[in-house]
Amino acid sequence: MDCLFCKIIAGEIPAKKLYEDEHAIAFADISPQAPVHVLIVPRRHISSHAQATRSDASLLGHLLNVASEIAHQQGLGKGFRTVINTGPDGGQTVDHLHMHVLGGRAMHWPPG
Ligand code: IMP
Repeated sequence: MDCLFCKIIAGEIPAKKLYEDEHAIAFADISPQAPVHVLIVPRRHISSHAQATRSDASLLGHLLNVASEIAHQQGLGKGFRTVINTGPDGGQTVDHLHMHVLGGRAMHWPPG
């Protein structure tokens, strides 16, 4: 499968890994939009949040748990933002479900 994040998971493309377990890995975003910008990616290929089903509920919850652990690990005690972009209108550019964790600066609302 020609998926960038599957290749990172397989170790075929280098990434700055910050966390991994049997279900997910996390690595630094190559184009950070904040002082801390981490992507949390399930090992299993799910093309987007829209393709996740109720049977993926524990995996989706796990991504949120990992997000808060990474925020703690990265010293984001003042807060952080989690984002999942879905589909073209959601701004998704890599078709493998991933959660952004952004922090280290004050975020703005509404997002663009
Ligand atoms: P999306 O726009 O929500 O799909 O997010 C995709 C993210 O992947 C973007 O923030 C990109 O900067 C990031 N990205 C693309 N290629 C790589 C890579 O090779 N390593 C790490 N992050 C990447």
